[in-house]
Amino acid sequence: MSRRSDFRELPPKLLAWFDRHARVLPWRAPIGQKRDPYRVWLAEIMLQQTTVPHAAPYFEAFTRRWPRVEDLAAAADEEVMRAWAGLGYYARARNLLKCAREVAARGGFPETAAGLRELPGIGPYTSGAIAALAFGEQVAAVDGNVDRVFARLMALKSDWAEAKKELAAKVASLVPAKRPGDFAEALMDLGATVCTPTAPNCMICPLTEFCVARAEGNPERYPIKPAKVAKPIRYGHAWVARRKGQVWMVRRPPEGLLGGMLALPSGDWREGALPEAAPPLKAEWVDTGEVRHVFTHFSLRLTVWTADVSRAPAGNGEWADPMEETGLPTVFAKALALAVGGKPKRR
Ligand code: SF4
Repeated sequence: MSRRSDFRELPPKLLAWFDRHARVLPWRAPIGQKRDPYRVWLAEIMLQQTTVPHAAPYFEAFTRRWPRVEDLAAAADEEVMRAWAGLGYYARARNLLKCAREVAARGGFPETAAGLRELPGIGPYTSGAIAALAFGEQVAAVDGNVDRVFARLMALKSDWAEAKKELAAKVASLVPAKRPGDFAEALMDLGATVCTPTAPNCMICPLTEFCVARAEGNPERYPIKPAKVAKPIRYGHAWVARRKGQVWMVRRPPEGLLGGMLALPSGDWREGALPEAAPPLKAEWVDTGEVRHVFTHFSLRLTVWTADVSRAPAGNGEWADPMEETGLPTVFAKALALAVGGKPKRR
């Protein structure tokens, strides 16, 4: 079978494969049925930087509780932040609410990628995905999966920034006028189930005949990206003050990292070495160990201190049952698990 580098026949081949192998996912409409922009948008925001199995229960919980964008727009900030806890990247949850409120105020989602990009938290990929899936616009949605598939199909060897431009233009040129949403979902599925990051299954791939990397014999080498720079390491403390089976929790300031989220008391996090920090009240604090967590721009090593206390620390906060749903971000849930044993419930 010869490799066909013009890709003209790629869209129908891919769509024929999609018709047989499309994944069934909680946010998907059956093939041929109209997609709800609210569900498409919510899923795409949740799926940024997290996996399908991790996002699925959150999606189901959100859509059960807030079935329409107007319902989400009317929700209290704290409720949404609590429901989001565990999905990470909390700036997204804040933008989610801002976006829901703007859409509700406008009376619906804009129907083009350009219009969607004006909304908070919606970038080029998400706008393309919503416009193609929900509104049938003939636009591409290029994310890391699509990058990988096309970097292999085209065997792109140039500088990654240049390669990405070439790749995006190629994908855009292939989006069919009919079924642009199915084309986007088909590429997502191919990247997730066949052309996977470390083990592309070329034997069952519907695009083998077009694939230059496959012809070269080593598709895993693509995409060729610049070496990653190691993340800086920050250090900090977290204090677990216990009283009558409960733990003292505080609310983080609305802006900044984990803004508005429930948290354990924790001082500044600094690069280089563990900073000096005062505990939230005087007690017999015991060094309980260290938890590690990776954020987008840095890794964190948090020293966890535990003490039994007889009164509440000064300042705003609340006593909470550590084994009940707390809405804690993952880093603090890890610290709590270390301090009190067991695993706090997520939802
Ligand atoms: S032939 Fe292999 S490398 Fe090429 S797109 Fe298909 S799975 Fe990926």
